[in-house]
Amino acid sequence: MLRTHYSNEVSKKDYGKKIAIAGWIEEIRNLGGIAFIILRDRYGRMQVTAIKKQNPELFKELVSLSRESVIAARGICQENEKVRNGWELLIEEMEVLSHADTPLPMGVVDKVNVDFDTRLDNRIIDLRRDETKAIFMIRHAFIGFASEYLRKKGFIEVHTPKITAASSEGGTEVFRIDYFGKPAYLVQSPQLYKQMLMASGLDRVYEIAWYFRAEEHDTSRHLNESTAIDIEMAFIESEEEVMRVAEEMTEYAIQKIMNECSNELEILHAKIDAPSVPYPRITYDEVVEILQKEIDFKWGEDLGTDEENLLAEKLDYELYFITKFPVEAKPFYAMFDGKYARAFDLEFKGMEIASGAQRIHDYELLIKRMDELGMNKENFADYLKAFRYGMPPHGGFGYGIERFLMRLLNLKNIRECILFPRDRKRLRP
Ligand code: ATP
Ligand code: MG
Repeated sequence: MLRTHYSNEVSKKDYGKKIAIAGWIEEIRNLGGIAFIILRDRYGRMQVTAIKKQNPELFKELVSLSRESVIAARGICQENEKVRNGWELLIEEMEVLSHADTPLPMGVVDKVNVDFDTRLDNRIIDLRRDETKAIFMIRHAFIGFASEYLRKKGFIEVHTPKITAASSEGGTEVFRIDYFGKPAYLVQSPQLYKQMLMASGLDRVYEIAWYFRAEEHDTSRHLNESTAIDIEMAFIESEEEVMRVAEEMTEYAIQKIMNECSNELEILHAKIDAPSVPYPRITYDEVVEILQKEIDFKWGEDLGTDEENLLAEKLDYELYFITKFPVEAKPFYAMFDGKYARAFDLEFKGMEIASGAQRIHDYELLIKRMDELGMNKENFADYLKAFRYGMPPHGGFGYGIERFLMRLLNLKNIRECILFPRDRKRLRP
């Protein structure tokens, strides 16, 4: 066995016993007759101590290793109050599992700030840093807790196609690909498929979904490939039921993260206020009224970053919904009452993190709406078919995972929250 214990698994009962640990060499301090090595594994750091006269050959090999080389070390676990964990490993045997090249493209523990592009170019090494790792541990936790909440509420996890023949729901550019000589597209979201599933009788579905959007964004909050929690639920009376799922899922996940990710939150210096549900609901009309006191803003316009920030400043809520948008501001499938769509956005510290709505489920109305907008219905043949043989009223939302994390952890750039970001300039690694 290469490893009997992770760094966090060693306890007093192991003192005086032989154990095996493994990881990356973070630091070597060679004092001549004795050397101290800091070894890092998934959960933390450990001290390995080598005494030259006990095993000169092992000592020589160990101190000549480059930083970030990977070793497995076996020896006696000895109590030592001077070491941070309270113990050290007196090394007796070693297996070098991998030699790291020098110099490293970036440091793992160096305090000097590495620029963001260098970090992203060397993401694998960047992930060895505590701060970066903490973001992805919280990301993992968030997806788990959100899924847990949804499953408790009867949502089943589905996976819909990412390659499609035509239909894009609109509102963004899509990526075109070659599909055995035929044109195809990467989906901008699972919208059309999750709606189609509402005609299946499954009633409540969710997907941890990929969004592909070919916009030439150059912002700190847009990616060309992003992830979302998408849900759709049937037999609803209004969008209010969908909003309740969105806010309860958020509250549940934040609470759980606060309870179970305290180490990671501390590493990131993230202080979280956890407002309780219901989150305030502000109508689009009220938003317009607030904005018009400050700036020139016309009814019907969409909210940009500046407007969202200004609004957040005026409202002083962490999390709130904007409801009852103008029909024109929302996609063709949104249900409406007069000039208002039954649609909402969830805002977190002045940034949209989710959009949702009750949808049109009536086939004739949907056709009428598409005609009004001059849409090509042939492109939507499969989607429309699902509305012809029994479609219950339904609604749902798309909830950006990176956007949520960015706001929760007060990160300045959305690229911090996805392993290998894709943007207009970045297609590698
Ligand atoms: P925005 O107006 O902020 O560009 P959107 O309204 O086009 O977003 P939706 O189609 O409503 O986005 O998608 C639902 C959610 O998915 C958004 O609220 C956001 O959290 C996330 N999302 C959408 N597009 C992106 C993107 N390009 N990068 C990162 N997250 C995104
Ligand atoms: Mg939106």
